[in-house]
Amino acid sequence: MHPSTVRCDACDATMSVGLHSWHLVCGSCGLERSTLRAQINELDSIDEEAREAALKPIRDENFDTLLSWLNESVPKRRPSGVKRKLLDVGCAHGWFLEKAALHYEVLGLEPDDVVARRTLQRNLPVRNGYFPQALEAREKFDVIVFNDVLEHIPDVKTVLKECAAHLQDGGVVVVNAPDSHGLFYRLSKLFVKTGRTGTFDRMWQVGLPSPHLYYFDSLSLGKIAAASGYGVIATRPLSSVVAKGLYERIRYAGDASTLRAVLMTLGVLMAIPILRLFPADIRVWVLKKQPA
Ligand SMILES: [Zn+2]
Repeated sequence: MHPSTVRCDACDATMSVGLHSWHLVCGSCGLERSTLRAQINELDSIDEEAREAALKPIRDENFDTLLSWLNESVPKRRPSGVKRKLLDVGCAHGWFLEKAALHYEVLGLEPDDVVARRTLQRNLPVRNGYFPQALEAREKFDVIVFNDVLEHIPDVKTVLKECAAHLQDGGVVVVNAPDSHGLFYRLSKLFVKTGRTGTFDRMWQVGLPSPHLYYFDSLSLGKIAAASGYGVIATRPLSSVVAKGLYERIRYAGDASTLRAVLMTLGVLMAIPILRLFPADIRVWVLKKQPA
């Protein structure tokens, strides 16, 4: 796609080239997107063990927060006492699925063949495939969750419209995604302007099998939701800085030496109370279908 012909998914304005030839920004609503290509099942899966050690503590903490918060807005049981149904799109290793199964009747979808097989081996209810093709037309859910997934899928409005066909009356879509107002993302943009593109590229997951295609914020996601027939009924930030596993994340994120990674870990640990005062890099938005 030629950049000058790309229109904003949120507000339909023409997007312009941002900090890279593949990076597009909407001057009107602030939506950012990329023209990077997904290569799931084409590129080798990345080093799973290192990725697991690096990400699990932060995901664990955020999933606990998300579930307790979700229980407040969507009661986990119907008045009849039956558990409500939750779909986890792009469930990866099933970390969220495992926790959510304590509250909801769960199903996960995972497009990566290798990851799906490994999660299935842990006896979690996973189907290998894409949303919505892996579902039957009549399958409906009370909650459809995208944990770090919606920003990886092309054509976000079509996906949200397809969700509506699989939502029970009163059901919600939960979008857990990076927020372009976050401190670290904004710093990565500053670094590009000083000639260092590494952090910005990592924020977009350049070179990974499924890079980021969108960077949302509350304004642009609200417009995308409205254009797809939803309203945002609740939102809250999630932490992107958790002390546990910090060293592993720093080692995993870059090619830092051991000494450098230790020093960086100490620096960030001391800065955590201050970092929490700045806009968070992860946000959850809860979308409810508007009456037609
Ligand atoms: Zn826009």
